[in-house]
Amino acid sequence: MAAGLAAAPWLARSAFAQAKASKEAMKYQDQPKDGQRCDTCTQFDPGAKPGAQGTCKVVDGPISPSGWCIAYVKKS
Ligand code: SF4
Repeated sequence: MAAGLAAAPWLARSAFAQAKASKEAMKYQDQPKDGQRCDTCTQFDPGAKPGAQGTCKVVDGPISPSGWCIAYVKKS
């Protein structure tokens, strides 16, 4: 997705600074978008139980498994 690719260089710098992006900056939402969702994203760290909130390597705060943001990258 073009928006995700365009954000990548900025994300790389952010990772070096060890600061996560805000949900607002990444346009995070609690719902999937076009079939894309956090629990199929390579950046997602699942919570303790299936369906529980997890965390994200690049976006700050609790992350819903069924959420989405512009940094979505499908797990391989
Ligand atoms: S990068 Fe975005 S889509 Fe992927 S897990 Fe984090 S918040 Fe969800």
